[in-house]
Amino acid sequence: MMQTIPLYQTTGISGFRITRIRTVARSGKATEIKGQDECAKAVRREERLSRRGCGGRRQMVITIERRHAVCPDCGSTKAKYYKAGVRLIQCQGFGRLKAFVEVAVHHIYCPECRSMSYEHLEFLTNPRARITRALEKEIVEKRRKMSITDVADDLGVSRQVVREAEIRALELKYRRVPLKGVRRIGIDEVYVFHEERGGRQFITVVRDLDTGRVLNVSRGKGEDALKMFASRLRRSGVAAEIECVAMDMANAFANFVRHSLPDALVVFDHFHVVKMINDIINKIRRAAMAKINAETRQALKELNLSKEERNVAKKLEKKIKDRQEKAKDVLKGNMKLPLMNKEDLEKDPKAKAKLAKMLEEYSDLGKAYLLKEELRSIYANAKTPVAAKALLEAWIAKARASDVGHLETMANTMEKNLEGVLGFWRFPGATNAKTEGFNNKIRWLVKQAYGYRDYRYFRLKVLDLPNLKPRESDY
Ligand SMILES: [Zn+2]
Repeated sequence: MMQTIPLYQTTGISGFRITRIRTVARSGKATEIKGQDECAKAVRREERLSRRGCGGRRQMVITIERRHAVCPDCGSTKAKYYKAGVRLIQCQGFGRLKAFVEVAVHHIYCPECRSMSYEHLEFLTNPRARITRALEKEIVEKRRKMSITDVADDLGVSRQVVREAEIRALELKYRRVPLKGVRRIGIDEVYVFHEERGGRQFITVVRDLDTGRVLNVSRGKGEDALKMFASRLRRSGVAAEIECVAMDMANAFANFVRHSLPDALVVFDHFHVVKMINDIINKIRRAAMAKINAETRQALKELNLSKEERNVAKKLEKKIKDRQEKAKDVLKGNMKLPLMNKEDLEKDPKAKAKLAKMLEEYSDLGKAYLLKEELRSIYANAKTPVAAKALLEAWIAKARASDVGHLETMANTMEKNLEGVLGFWRFPGATNAKTEGFNNKIRWLVKQAYGYRDYRYFRLKVLDLPNLKPRESDY
């Protein structure tokens, strides 16, 4: 049989020879291809048809057979091959013309070493693969720059095949994430699965703060979510080398650190501390809104009581309405104001005036706002742990004296975790500063719609996230 096309160069298959090439139409009608000319003609024809939008009706089928039928165990040439079936496996196409290799698979019996086995096809990544290793490789390479749909269209495979190829490649890549050399880690829980309940709404991500690598992704939150990671730490014996762990002050991972990393210092990140006071500001603002509503309701109740004095009531009603509107105007629609940073406000005099009014009328909010700015200033200006400690202690005293419940609670939390907060100055590298950006990327992944339906894929994509360009769209 003449070699019509070079098998290895076009399909990445070696050790086999071509016995027959044909194109098969959708109707099942086969046309034999005898020489290179006919082959090129078929490819050009498909190209032409695709341009007109009616391609894909023909496929090329390349029948191949093994060159040397030897025993896979001892290499004996006396091995007997018994045909067990025929498989059709998609390989890289020729331009727009899809191509498949047709290959018989065998039971093998070797009289020399008396072994029985089933033929293994070396050009597949796994026994059940529907595409060749070379095509799989091409899919994975293209997937780095293209969406699933685009890769599927380009290579003439289904989206499912693209997904499976990518999953296999990622699984191979992240089967073992080495922990050697890791010194500083950050642990964070990310709220991603809104449809779920309780802990299942979260994933817990462990990252190497020095390299940005993702070391572990697991479902759930708290110590439970880190069970597997804890046992990996034990087995790899690197626990003693880890100096510090950055996390938020919610302390959900305190037990994990105590049990698995007793020598590591917990560092509470700047980003989490500022987020904590921002959350407080939101709570206070919401409480103020609720109070206004309650007051209005109360006033209306009293209005009903003095029903007989209609004129007075009407006046009252108007007064209440005015007051309500005024108060709501100040708070509503200005939700973001107290969260804005001083520098940004300087650029926006209108917002600045609005905020000043808001803070004057609602003193709790004013106190929280000032304390937030002070905290930010400490992070920006304190240069040494000693200086930071003095400033933070003064801050805690002020927060405690604020007479605002939430701020007092935060003061206690800060005092209890002061060593961890100071870790920001002791370990300048141990910051989750990039965490917020990373968490946004995770949420973006979820939006690409594969997060929820296919957790296995999602988890692999999170592990691979540091290598992903942020502006990829359409999955
Ligand atoms: Zn043998």
